[in-house]
Amino acid sequence: MSIRKILKYGDDFLRQPSKEVHKVSKKVQDLIKDLLDTMYACNGVGLAAPQIGEHLRVFVIDVSTNDEPLNPMVFINPKIIKKEGAVVSHEGCLSFPEAYTDVRRYKNVMVKALDKHGRPFVLEAKDGTLLARAIQHEFDHLDGVLFIDHVRNRFEADKILQENGLPPVDTERLIDEAEMEEILKNEHQQNGEE
Ligand code: ZN
Repeated sequence: MSIRKILKYGDDFLRQPSKEVHKVSKKVQDLIKDLLDTMYACNGVGLAAPQIGEHLRVFVIDVSTNDEPLNPMVFINPKIIKKEGAVVSHEGCLSFPEAYTDVRRYKNVMVKALDKHGRPFVLEAKDGTLLARAIQHEFDHLDGVLFIDHVRNRFEADKILQENGLPPVDTERLIDEAEMEEILKNEHQQNGEE
């Protein structure tokens, strides 16, 4: 299989929604291999099909650390069936080289999807772990949503994007997350932080 070119922020393709997979065909299996090859080649934690120019509802994640064996996870036609809580996540994206910023994510998610063989599974990821956040990040790509749509400080994000030669935050795409922000502020106060 092959390492594919990753589309960069500013490419309209990243903003278009992907279609359900009807059959886990050889073509889909090849796409999964390409996603994994490309993700590993770029030292990424996750990669979604639209990022390599395929509008199919497929993404891959591997949250294993350097001293652990590889643990590729494949999600086909994923649905987030439960989401709760809030965390701040310092994120980047292979479509945004070198640009990292704080975004809001749910703390706990439950996802239902098909594996690489087309078998259904349910997975719960809790406590704002890398896996919990990665599932939300990659899932968003399938709907044309990007991590900067969840940004906490738009001005800081714009600065980081500009420094990396990327277009600014698309303000019309910003997602209203007042409820999550409320949770984050309350927790912040309880923890007695500044
Ligand atoms: Zn991404």
